[in-house]
Amino acid sequence: MATSSASTGSGRRPRIILPGTRYHRVRKTVQSICFVIFVFLPLFDVMRVDLPHQRFYFFGAELWISEFSIIFLTMMFLWILVAAMAMIYGRFYCGYLCPQMIFSETANALEQRIVRFVNRKIPDAGAGLRRFVALALFSAILLPASIFLTFVFVSYFVPPLDLYHRLVHLDVHTAGGIVGASVTLVTFLDFVVLRQRFCSAICPYGYLQNMLADQRTLVVHFHDPKEECIGCEKCVRACPMGIDIRRSSHQLECTHCAECIDACSGILGKLGTKSLIQYAWGDAGASTAQRQSWFSKIGFRDGKRVAVLLLLVIYACGLSIAISMRKPVLVRIMPNRISLYTVGSDGMIHNRFRLLASNRGHTDATISLKTADLPAVAIQGLDGPILLKPGDTVQQEFDVIAPVSALQPGINRLRILADVMPAQKQQAFPETFFAPFDSSAPAEGKKQRMQSK
Ligand code: SF4
Ligand code: SF4
Repeated sequence: MATSSASTGSGRRPRIILPGTRYHRVRKTVQSICFVIFVFLPLFDVMRVDLPHQRFYFFGAELWISEFSIIFLTMMFLWILVAAMAMIYGRFYCGYLCPQMIFSETANALEQRIVRFVNRKIPDAGAGLRRFVALALFSAILLPASIFLTFVFVSYFVPPLDLYHRLVHLDVHTAGGIVGASVTLVTFLDFVVLRQRFCSAICPYGYLQNMLADQRTLVVHFHDPKEECIGCEKCVRACPMGIDIRRSSHQLECTHCAECIDACSGILGKLGTKSLIQYAWGDAGASTAQRQSWFSKIGFRDGKRVAVLLLLVIYACGLSIAISMRKPVLVRIMPNRISLYTVGSDGMIHNRFRLLASNRGHTDATISLKTADLPAVAIQGLDGPILLKPGDTVQQEFDVIAPVSALQPGINRLRILADVMPAQKQQAFPETFFAPFDSSAPAEGKKQRMQSK
């Protein structure tokens, strides 16, 4: 379905920019908000992966890599969201939300301003010198900008504080420092050399979008049934990707930025005609400006789209439930069955257990254990509550002990209760306590061991 246009090149008329026009204004507002979100997400732990510590931060929750179910639900939710966006809204993400596009367009605007500034300041210098000065100025601004953008980008994977220390110490010796320096260089070259070429030549989302689009996907569409096009080519010169939308709505380079819509409105508006280029739901679909039901208007135009929306809602609900049920302090208790029981020198029966606890929260926590359902039973081997600092994991063995007189021969049932402070709902672990099958067997003071088979 996708076709590639080759309209870029030296033969093209100079590009124009249309600040202040309808879609341009909307897009710049949305892009500014997206830029703030892009910076905000990792720096405030709203969404980032901490590779060194194997954590995943998602809207305030610190998820450990071991929390597979939540991470799986999160990934599935994000993946379906991306696929749904591509299927319903085409490349809306590229034109309005993508950081690469935002920075490419900013670099374009900056470059044009600098060229105008240099031409004004040194009008008598040769063209080569003016180009060189403009490039030097452009690079001098882009270098710190690239360092900042790299800092934000790498913060999605490395704690920002750690990154900050590496940056102020100009760390280019460790693996982390080398990665940071390399990403900065790639970012710098991207905005000096590649910019929107990245979108059409490298970015996988453009290819993915073309695979997911169908006949009802939002496109930018040229429609001229009355042959009103005056051939001014303002739409072509306004296009940041350098393509001619009149050839096809499905060109791989088209990012649905709508600059061509503004351009055509501007020129034909003066002649009392509407733009021949519009957002439309597919080539044969209705223009978004036509009267239609609200759900059609927002893109839910067939059962497939409603099914995708339902799937998204299901995953979002599953994810919310999983996160709300999540406990910041994880406690596990399991029996150590190397021996079923041992008999102490005082005749008490011992069963050995293992406590495994992790503090996934942000504050200190303590864990206290006690038993229930079996009288005269005590815990031995834990000296009071166990303190866990944020991020700590402990593994500790302890004994549950009971006098043989309080036990049934063989299998006894009890619960081990874990109280976690700050307040977390008490957790109960149903366990089995083994006693000698013949209650007269353990003579007082004689140690006996029954091996587990
Ligand atoms: S053809 Fe129009 S919508 Fe597509 S990239 Fe060019 S200006 Fe943007
Ligand atoms: S701006 Fe409109 S009128 Fe001019 S060439 Fe493009 S589609 Fe035709």
